[in-house]
Amino acid sequence: MILEGLRVEVLASANALRDYGLVWMAGGTICARDPETGYVVVTPSGLDYALLSAEDMIVVDMDLNIISGKYRPSVATNLWTAILRARPDVNGIVHSHSPYATAFSVVDMTIPIITETQADWFGQPIKIAPYTHIEDDHFITAPVEALGDGFGVMLGQHGPITVGENLHHAMERAVTLEEAAKTYFIARGIGEVKVFTPAQAKASFEYYQNRYGQR
Ligand SMILES: [Zn+2]
Repeated sequence: MILEGLRVEVLASANALRDYGLVWMAGGTICARDPETGYVVVTPSGLDYALLSAEDMIVVDMDLNIISGKYRPSVATNLWTAILRARPDVNGIVHSHSPYATAFSVVDMTIPIITETQADWFGQPIKIAPYTHIEDDHFITAPVEALGDGFGVMLGQHGPITVGENLHHAMERAVTLEEAAKTYFIARGIGEVKVFTPAQAKASFEYYQNRYGQR
């Protein structure tokens, strides 16, 4: 089976999305690029991940040709490959419908940087791309533009996308974003929220990415 290791990882991440409470049933998408071949492994459209095997993950090329897999890939695979094309530094993409983060996309409110962990993983606020139907012209361009050089973006009235140099980092960001959105929601009910300045967020991000953890 071509790209077996990456397919196992994509399926495990899809199941982890559900275990973390970020999606239900067939919701959300996991997408990973193999740096060597340039092929992309993506979850199939509309199937319950709990019932699938690694072989059921779809391998496509960057022009959306199916290389391996019997199912239709995620219907938004054109968006996932557009993000990968715009961001050579990104190899992992996680899309979820996590409720607190999605709530901010519903009220069109950018999530500022409010916690250290969020600053560490994102370094900049998470913007919201205006809602577009999947068949609209701007379905691809609006989120790619709103993501820019950041690591998270919200699809308006839909849900978050997080990215990383690998799938593990994209998943850490998916969980961190939901946690931050929930904390922001709670904090707004208690009092005035203190927001990281751009300089504070950048310093935290650079420290965490370059000097924290096991090296
Ligand atoms: Zn979705």
